[in-house]
Amino acid sequence: MSSNESLANLLKEERRFAPPEELAAAANVTAEAYEQAAADRLEFWAAQADRLTWSTKPTETLDWSNPPFAKWFADGKLNVTYNCVDRHVEAGHGDRVALHFEGEPGDARTITYAQLKDEVSRAANALTELGVTAGDRVAIYLPMIPEAVIAMLACARIGAPHSVVFGGFSADALATRIGDADARVVITADGGYRRGKPSALKPAVDEALTKPGTEGVRSVLVVRRTGQETAWAEGRDVWWHDLVPRQSDQHTPQAFDAEHPLFILYTSGTTGKPKGILHTTGGYLTQASYTHHAVFDLKPETDVFWCTADIGWVTGHSYIVYGPLSNGATQVLYEGTPDSPHQGRWWEIIQKYGVTILYTAPTAIRTYMKWGEDIPAKFDLSSLRLLGSVGEPINPEAWVWYRKHIGADRTPIVDTWWQTETGAMMISPLPGLTTTKPGSAQTPLPGIAATVIDDEGNEVPNGSGGYLVLTEPWPSMLRTIWGDDQRYLDTYWSRFENRYFAGDGAKKDEDGDIWLLGRVDDVMLVSGHNISTTEVESALVSHPKVAEAAVVGASDPTTGQAIAAFVILRGSATEDENLVEELRTHVAKQLGPIAKPKRILPVAELPKTRSGKIMRRLLRDVAENRQLGDVTTLTDSTVMDLIQSKLPAAPSED
Ligand code: ATP
Ligand code: MG
Repeated sequence: MSSNESLANLLKEERRFAPPEELAAAANVTAEAYEQAAADRLEFWAAQADRLTWSTKPTETLDWSNPPFAKWFADGKLNVTYNCVDRHVEAGHGDRVALHFEGEPGDARTITYAQLKDEVSRAANALTELGVTAGDRVAIYLPMIPEAVIAMLACARIGAPHSVVFGGFSADALATRIGDADARVVITADGGYRRGKPSALKPAVDEALTKPGTEGVRSVLVVRRTGQETAWAEGRDVWWHDLVPRQSDQHTPQAFDAEHPLFILYTSGTTGKPKGILHTTGGYLTQASYTHHAVFDLKPETDVFWCTADIGWVTGHSYIVYGPLSNGATQVLYEGTPDSPHQGRWWEIIQKYGVTILYTAPTAIRTYMKWGEDIPAKFDLSSLRLLGSVGEPINPEAWVWYRKHIGADRTPIVDTWWQTETGAMMISPLPGLTTTKPGSAQTPLPGIAATVIDDEGNEVPNGSGGYLVLTEPWPSMLRTIWGDDQRYLDTYWSRFENRYFAGDGAKKDEDGDIWLLGRVDDVMLVSGHNISTTEVESALVSHPKVAEAAVVGASDPTTGQAIAAFVILRGSATEDENLVEELRTHVAKQLGPIAKPKRILPVAELPKTRSGKIMRRLLRDVAENRQLGDVTTLTDSTVMDLIQSKLPAAPSED
């Protein structure tokens, strides 16, 4: 990848943060975990599986006789929902709050573990009344309301794999996902609140169900959230409030095989057509539970955990539903956007509930940076003791801002690398143990084997870059792509023999710590040098006038590829010719002249997926004057028109 010089530059400030003593002294996980896992990886995971309550304890840890199709804990049986709900009630924690729900309009609802058990049991009975049996797929298309969590847990309780589709997706995207999974039931709502207004959901379901491939859907279960006018298909549509509350709150969870399918989830579509990732039961829950316990150092009696991800993404699955609930956590669930009704809404929520652990994405942090630090400064954030990041590489600048302005220069930050495919965290600092480096995800977690290799598949030495690969199977790994074993093999296991190819570029620093460099597809080749988008973006964001940056390589007759940068300026900065020149010089100074962008275009917005990730491939299309590729996972299609209309006729020459 890029020259060692640029890594040295990134690191030059030598910013290091040791774990706070108090946290280290009481941390859930100590250095012993790495030692145990290194001594016997499978024994280590078998011990973590003991965190769960099994109806039949597994005797076999991993069956890897038919790679890459793994079976974990294959002869064990368990019920995921029993583990997430009932057992906490049985242990005497029924009165503990499971969910502090905060609706966007300001309505709030508190749900204890005992109440959650009743609600989930009723919903499980309701699905059974609708004819859903183990193995049937259920599509869930809901806003961020408690019924989303309840619906997922009800499905898991009866062994019906769910396929959660993000509530912001269009009817087409929903139809494809319903069709691909061949769902029997869709659970939705009349609407949800977005930016202060009710926003309808049910019409998208109605439209999706007119499309070919969705004929298998027998019932649509509809939660009333906004009370808006809702079209109705008699015989197919059922109100949640008519069906669920009249059910018994008693439901006996049945044990399922550890390899029973738990859910299908489509990747966010940053690089291309989304893939239906299949996760199963025992291994997934083991790793979701362990990583939540270890990386967030969760103390269930005192912590208030808040993961801001949407339930429609894997982060919501693993770190709102399955990880935290299996650990008996108390959490915040927020329906709306960060700026409704004001730009301090998140910080107000943290103050209101005394949130101690916050898990969010770099895109949100950069947005808050753009809005200015005086906004969080108005709220009492002193309850926070730990911060997390996921979804994209976090620029060192944003990392330091996050720690300083949200974490009072006191809280550790865990930068967690993982994917929909990995099911749970894979590379991350441990908050009581790791001396953190802003911008680096650092070390594979105990029991995880990851490294960086070159084109030939050789491990690169410290100080060099290449491809991130996982070299041993892990419990929460995807089992396949739903209905497409061949695509599973081709996408992840064909590039390098016996190793899982993650699709991300990475670098090992002199200490062997891992730095993520963005998608392999996004790496630029300029005059024979590999340059990572992440590094140039981080250099741009380190300029005081830049809030966000996206960088792509566009084909260029002289240099092979030329760097084109799209930047969003911070609140007060204004755009002029000098600024563009200033930014180009700034990058050259930070990373060397080779990394100097040929073009820099200030824009108002960047194209992002619904999960907030920058879609560089669309910017590449623009920079190369091509027709735009698949835009179905784009948040706002007008963004691309705006950017295209701003493109200068001829790029400026050096
Ligand atoms: P698609 O696979 O359809 O292109 P996607 O990869 O964006 O979509 P996800 O599974 O949600 O879908 O995202 C996983 C990817 O997000 C990782 O492969 C990596 O590129 C990025 N990522 C996640 N966490 C981090 C992190 N802490 N640091 C760097 N990159 C991260
Ligand atoms: Mg991906």
